[in-house]
Order: sequence, then C-alpha cells, then structure tokens
Amino acid sequence: MEFALTENQEMIRETFRKFAEKELTREYVRWLDENCDFPPDDLRHKLADLGYFGIGVPEEYGGIGGGTVEMAIATEELATAGVAVAIGMGIVFIGGTRPLTEFGSEEQKTRYLPEIVSGEKKWSFALTEPAGGTDILGAIAATARREGDEYVLNGSKIFISGAHVADYILTVVITDKDTERKNGLSVFIVDAKSKGVTVSLIPKLGIHACGTCEVHYEDVRVPAENLVGVENKGWYQLLGTLNPERIATSTLSLGIANAAFRDALEYSKERKAFGKPIGQFQILQNYLADIAIEIENARNLIYKCAWLCDSGRRYDVEATMAKIVACRASEKAALWGMEILGGYGYTMEYDMQRHFRDYKQMMFSPISDEMSKNYIAQSFGLPRSY
Ligand SMILES: Cc1cc2nc3c(=O)[nH]c(=O)nc-3n(C[C@H](O)[C@H](O)[C@H](O)COP(=O)(O)OP(=O)(O)OC[C@H]3O[C@@H](n4cnc5c(N)ncnc54)[C@H](O)[C@@H]3O)c2cc1C
Repeated sequence: MEFALTENQEMIRETFRKFAEKELTREYVRWLDENCDFPPDDLRHKLADLGYFGIGVPEEYGGIGGGTVEMAIATEELATAGVAVAIGMGIVFIGGTRPLTEFGSEEQKTRYLPEIVSGEKKWSFALTEPAGGTDILGAIAATARREGDEYVLNGSKIFISGAHVADYILTVVITDKDTERKNGLSVFIVDAKSKGVTVSLIPKLGIHACGTCEVHYEDVRVPAENLVGVENKGWYQLLGTLNPERIATSTLSLGIANAAFRDALEYSKERKAFGKPIGQFQILQNYLADIAIEIENARNLIYKCAWLCDSGRRYDVEATMAKIVACRASEKAALWGMEILGGYGYTMEYDMQRHFRDYKQMMFSPISDEMSKNYIAQSFGLPRSY
C-alpha cells in the first residue's frame, strides 16, 4: 500500500500552492466575495496557463492528461485559498470537459475541448429544476422536440452555477415523454446566447464570487449536432460524471475546512485571555484537534476515491461517503472556528464568517446528506426507504 504522491503530483501541489499564495491572497479573495459574482477572466487565463483546465483531458485535444488525483490536488489548493474561485473554475469540468471527454462525439471534442483548456470558454451544467433536485427524475419537466435538423428546448432550470457568464450551458431535458424517465433524457450543448435563453442571478448566502442562476428556455433552437452522446441515454451517460462530481465537491469542502482550521489556529495563538494565548486552554485545543482529525479523515477518503476512480475501480459508495465526511469537516471547522474567534468571528473583519456562510452550500449540492445516506444504505442491500 502506497500513500505517497508521485513526484509529478507533488509538483502539481507545489505549483498550485504557489499560484494560490500569489494570486489568491486573503485580501483579494475577500474583495472577490464582496464585489464579484464570478471570478474574473484574468484568473481563468492564468489557471489555463498552468494547465488546470487540461487536467484529465487527452493531449490530442490540448489537455495535459492526468486524472482525478491530480484534479483533487490542484482543486484542494485552490479551494483552501478561495472556494468560490475553485467552484467557478471547476464548473467546466462537470459541465464541459468530463461529459465531452466521456461521451462527446469526435467533432464535439475537437471543437470544444481545446477552447475550454485554453480558458477561452466557460461552461455550466443545468440539471436541477424548480420542482426538485433530489428527485430529479420525478421533477424534470424541460423538454426538447426534434424539428428537422434542430431540437427545440422549453423549460426551466434552477440553481445553475455560473450560467450568467457561461458561453455554453450543458442542459439535460426530456426527449421521450412516453417511457420511464431515466430512459427518456438527453443532454444538449446550448449556446448561452441563443434566442429564448434567459438567465437571472439568485441572491444567496455564501460563495458570493460564484453566482447561481435560474435559466429559462423558450423555444430555444439547438442544432441536432449539439446532442451529446445518444438520444434518450443521457441519464446513464451522466452517471459517469455525477460520481466524479461528488469527489470534486468533497475537495471543495475540504478546502473550506483547511481554511477555517488555519484561521482558527492562527487566531488561537495570537489572542490572549487570562494572560495566556487562548490556544493554551484545553477545550480550544480539543476543538482544534477534533477539526484536524476530521480534515485528515476527509482527505484520506477523498484521495482514496480519486485513486479508485483513476484505477478503474468502483467508487460510487465511497465518493458518497467522502462527500458527507468532507462536508462534516467543513461544518465543524466553520462552527468551532466561530467559537474560537469569539465575537470577532461574527464580524466582517475576519474571514471566518465567510467560511461559515460558504460551507453550507456543499451540504446539499450536488446531493444532500439525507439522500447520500439513502444511497449508502441501499448499497448494503437494504430496501429503498423512499
Ligand atoms: C448554490 C447552489 C448551486 C448549485 N449549482 C448547481 C448547478 O450548477 N447545476 C445543477 O444542475 N444544480 C445545481 N444546484 C442544485 C443542487 O444540486 C440541488 O439544490 C440539490 O440537488 C438539492 O435539491 P433541492 O434544492 O431541490 O432540494 P429538495 O430535493 O427539494 O430537498 C429538500 C430536502 O428534502 C430532503 N429529501 C428529498 N428527498 C429525500 C429522500 N428520499 N429521503 C430523505 N430526504 C429527502 C433533502 O435531503 C433536503 O433536505 C445548486 C444548488 C445550490 C443551492
């Protein structure tokens, strides 16, 4: 058994850590949270120069290869510095590179992947609908009907991250109403500037620098060549991208936990009470030790899942567990981080309030804790509880 990263993986960690130190300073990340609804383009171009968007993309399409472990390493560094930046940048993997690489046509890969890798184009991923995200097969109502060499899309999506700045929105719709839902879904590349697409931002609690949107499609005409994969097989194709998404979101939670732990530890060494640094009080030491244990647990499980994924082994249950463990670590780090900072944690002067607002998004997106546990329990052979 080997836990060590390879030389190349260590280099990736070092590269992204240095990038984060230089480009994602605390002041800048705070400024982004207060002023932006998406990370600025120049950040994306700098990350493209580092090869970030090429991770996991075959070299013939401009990628640099690598896999889920490399992605987790780079993303952990970015998310620790600024989780909203990591999410804003990471959407292209879920909405673009992963689905295109896995089930896109040769023409689609050749046309779209190089412009994602170079940082030129932004993508978002539209699955969730207003009637429900957990029971997406029961809730989905958006449709596409074929008309000649086009499809006509109608419907609404909600909570779509980055749709307000996206060039393309990968959209999941019903193409066959008369069959079991999972056998009637298809995936389309929708040009975000198409006539009939309207996007509006939804104000939210945290992750301010990566906005989330409502998207409406009214008679949106999409060329038939924009169908990704096979018509009506969209659900099965997407399953291959939803599990990596669980690893990715676990890594985002891990980043928040790292940041909250770092800030709490620093503060506990500086702040004094009763003539001593507060970090000398046993109960605060216990808080910090417990956070560190949860972070270590989360990191181990996340990297194990990434390794399982890259080595072609099954990892769906482990990835679902990792999602819960990492969310809990970020929750504990943010809640106890607030305790450790006392009154200052509640002010806008310190970043702990941001970690406290940010961690919550990952608790239910892309899958809630409750649904994750349903999935894990079913893997033991127990009957579906719902
Ligand atoms: C900020 C943000 C960004 C997002 N980004 C994207 C994106 O880019 N693209 C995209 O497609 N979606 C996105 N989502 C959607 C996200 O995946 C959904 O919010 C999530 O799937 C939960 O769906 P819901 O919000 O409709 O909650 P619901 O499905 O209505 O669930 C409400 C509650 O009921 C519980 N529940 C439901 N069913 C069960 C059950 N069977 N057993 C036990 N409990 C149950 C849930 O666990 C939850 O506690 C985003 C959401 C947010 C808030």
